Amino acid sequence: MAVIEDEAIVLRAVEYGESDLIAHLLMPDIGRLTVIAKYARKSQRRFPGSLDLFNHLRVRVSRKRPQGLGFLERGVLVAPFLALRADPGRYALASYLVEWMDRVAPEDGTRADTRRIFGFTVSALGALERAQPDPTLRLFLELRAFDALGLRPGLRHCVRCGAEPGATLVDFHVADGGLLCGAHGGEGREGRLQVHLGTLRALDKSLEGEIGALGRLRLSPQALVEAEEILFRFHRFHLGFELKSQRFLGQSLGGARLTAATAHANTPRPRD
Ligand SMILES: [Zn+2]
Repeated sequence: MAVIEDEAIVLRAVEYGESDLIAHLLMPDIGRLTVIAKYARKSQRRFPGSLDLFNHLRVRVSRKRPQGLGFLERGVLVAPFLALRADPGRYALASYLVEWMDRVAPEDGTRADTRRIFGFTVSALGALERAQPDPTLRLFLELRAFDALGLRPGLRHCVRCGAEPGATLVDFHVADGGLLCGAHGGEGREGRLQVHLGTLRALDKSLEGEIGALGRLRLSPQALVEAEEILFRFHRFHLGFELKSQRFLGQSLGGARLTAATAHANTPRPRD
């Protein structure tokens, strides 16, 4: 029987049987781990309010088999991220990020990967508590999430040859993983997306520095439209599925993709 004592973030918790809870935890040295919390719904003393979504805990988990289900023996609250529950936009964005990690973070992954993913999740939830959620912050956090998952797009140099882009309008190619120079991109390449170099530079800049400073970075309206298209395609290509919280997030925060679609639908027809 292995006993693990470590930190954890609650990615998901569902009722199980008469009195138990099944929780999906994200842990720095393991990645995702499914645990059962026996009698969690009967006894408040065992896990006092500690298995709520987003909660940052210190846990003690025992496991009979490696890679098997964990038994949660103790969960002590480190941070409840209360501000995420008080604002619909923050709640929507935080739900989206934890659902994403719940779907794609590795189980029993390598320690460097799982620590990076855990570190991102804790700092993103912390930053979100203090920031005003809007479509720009959503994009920056999505990009950081891809970076944490080891899927950082190439935003500075051509991903094929490393050349500096020489034009204001450049190609971004999702299947290639980023920017393409004039020689490697160009007309005729399927799936190309033409964007301004400034948009890629702004996204690249958002990957530097503290995650808590992201709320202060801005994008021009044009860069926001382009960046949303890039991230939308990147998400669809690499994840290939829609997260349940995605629609709620779109409704809560809006965004240029959504605003443009709504504006288009509402545009009055020109008079004859
Ligand atoms: Zn190239």
